[in-house]
Amino acid sequence: MHPVNHTLPPTAPCSEPLLRVDSLVKRFPVKGGILRRTVDEVHAVSGVSFTLDRAETLGLVGESGCGKSTTGRLILRLIEPTSGAIWFEGRNVIALDHRQLLALRRDMQIIFQDPFASLNPRMSVGAIIGEALIIHGLAKSPREREDRVVELLETVGLRADHMRRFPHEFSGGQRQRIGIARALAVRPKLIVCDEPVSALDVSIQAQVVNLLEDLQEKFGLSYLFIAHDLSVVEHISHRVAVMYLGRIVEIASSHDLYSAPLHPYTEALLSAVPIPDPTLKRTRIRLKGDPPSPLRPPSGCAFHTRCPIAKKTVCSSEVPTLREVRPGHLVACHLRS
Ligand code: SF4
Repeated sequence: MHPVNHTLPPTAPCSEPLLRVDSLVKRFPVKGGILRRTVDEVHAVSGVSFTLDRAETLGLVGESGCGKSTTGRLILRLIEPTSGAIWFEGRNVIALDHRQLLALRRDMQIIFQDPFASLNPRMSVGAIIGEALIIHGLAKSPREREDRVVELLETVGLRADHMRRFPHEFSGGQRQRIGIARALAVRPKLIVCDEPVSALDVSIQAQVVNLLEDLQEKFGLSYLFIAHDLSVVEHISHRVAVMYLGRIVEIASSHDLYSAPLHPYTEALLSAVPIPDPTLKRTRIRLKGDPPSPLRPPSGCAFHTRCPIAKKTVCSSEVPTLREVRPGHLVACHLRS
């Protein structure tokens, strides 16, 4: 993988971040009984706030079910939030009507973990990529559309003749490249990358991550890069946010988070990441038990049932706020400052 460049590429002067997420909440109703009434709620996302700058990558990390993918889908309004605000280039995403949302989808795209499931098996690759150009009126003629599809395929490392083939004829890594080409077709500013390399072999993971980095440099893209694997996120992210049970518990520059983590949960996740240098040893922190159910998150700090340093009264009764303890380094823990 390329060395991480923590200096952001030059962008147009603008003080407003590309994306601002404020106190985002999503609860999914649980229906039961003959009348299918709401009997409970899954607390999927509980007050998530962050910003994302132009040409920046923010890694969003946590165990499965922590709300990271839901957060990505909320930003694109693929699902509706329960409360909170999402601002994209100063526009209130939640207030947009259907037509405005379609226009916004040009600026915000998503790539999925399983490209095969997200590619229509009955459509050729040319038709899959060309579809986005048709929907958004980005090609005036079939010839222009085909030229643009070829250009996109070559941009992601595929060949022009691949446009006549079907998704099942490609490997996992190639299918992810097709998904990336489809996202790029509308010239987006932000791509939500939802576990884009989790299903791929390690060697292929590096190729796809390198491609995303190259595309960011070329087109000034911003990424919200969702993953459960901290080692993948480190190489691509300028900043990293760690989620636990629907909340961000720590957010910092990639360098600070990996070299000096503050939250006990981040420490535990990092302790499980293998170190390439065999002479260095890291003590594995094993958390007790499984993550609690998002149906009934624990009181106080949601991590207190597994935290190795929890203090009985304060940790189980008071929700810690996410506060800045060093420049750009925020943590939600009563005992860390
Ligand atoms: Fe652990 Fe308490 Fe900090 Fe939560 S607030 S992470 S339980 S020490």
